[in-house]
Amino acid sequence: MPEKGQRTVVVTGGSRGIGRAICLALADAGTHVYFNYFNPADPEGEAAAASETEALLAAANAGASSQSVNVASEDEIKVFIDSIMNESGRIDVWVNNAGITRDSLLVRMKTKAWDDVIDVNLKGTFLCSRAVAKIMMKQREGRIINIASIVGVTGNPGQSNYVASKAGIIGLTKAAAKELAPRNVTVNAVAPGFIETDMTQDLPQNVKDAFMAQIPLGRSGQPEDVAAAVAFLASDAASYLTGQVIHVSGGMYI
Ligand code: NAP
Repeated sequence: MPEKGQRTVVVTGGSRGIGRAICLALADAGTHVYFNYFNPADPEGEAAAASETEALLAAANAGASSQSVNVASEDEIKVFIDSIMNESGRIDVWVNNAGITRDSLLVRMKTKAWDDVIDVNLKGTFLCSRAVAKIMMKQREGRIINIASIVGVTGNPGQSNYVASKAGIIGLTKAAAKELAPRNVTVNAVAPGFIETDMTQDLPQNVKDAFMAQIPLGRSGQPEDVAAAVAFLASDAASYLTGQVIHVSGGMYI
């Protein structure tokens, strides 16, 4: 359990991939990191991944707590945030990272695939941002960092649901940045390009090759590349930066 007043960081979808790297990049001895995850189809796998992230945070001397919480559920988010506030009394940094894909061409896309992706990626970011904004406004300080995607700017065939969710996150970031700036709360987004995680590992080789051909730096990104940009946005050095989208894509989008 964190000490009252300790720096408190929350990362959604922190059990694996980019979320785990973000948890670790924001961890130090004076910080308690909360993260959630949600995969009812594989409860043992999600719990094992979360335990591994917690162990890595402990090795970095940070406090760590995790729970299975669906970001698309208003009720679950409320319980999650209430429990954090009861323990730590504040939230300094909130990273909206949880995300899913359900790819299909537009003409074949099932309504459920559309709804699932919008619910987790966009509505989840909205629900969390709305709840945490109230807390940060009262604190008169805070950082909200949203994980968007390069495709939210460029578009991508076969991902109209995902692209719409990520473009929506960029719009939400800009609107919230303008609303919350007077209370010293900044809202920024990081837009990753092609990053090696579970989300991208099962893509067909021809799709991976097509992505690689578009990357001027000539390599795919690592979760730590994205986490470094998030750590900067969470740092004192970024206090005059809000409403921005930082692309971490090896130059794929310039
Ligand atoms: P990932 O490896 O699939 O990890 C996704 C994380 O989100 C997991 O921790 C997962 O929990 C969690 N999650 C999924 N649905 C959730 C829900 N409803 N509620 C709470 N948590 C949920 O994905 P990733 O590649 O690290 O992606 C992280 C973020 O970066 C996403 O927003 C993604 O869109 C974005 N992004 C990724 C890339 C890329 O190339 N990888 C590029 C651009 C943007 P479980 O472990 O329980 O499943």
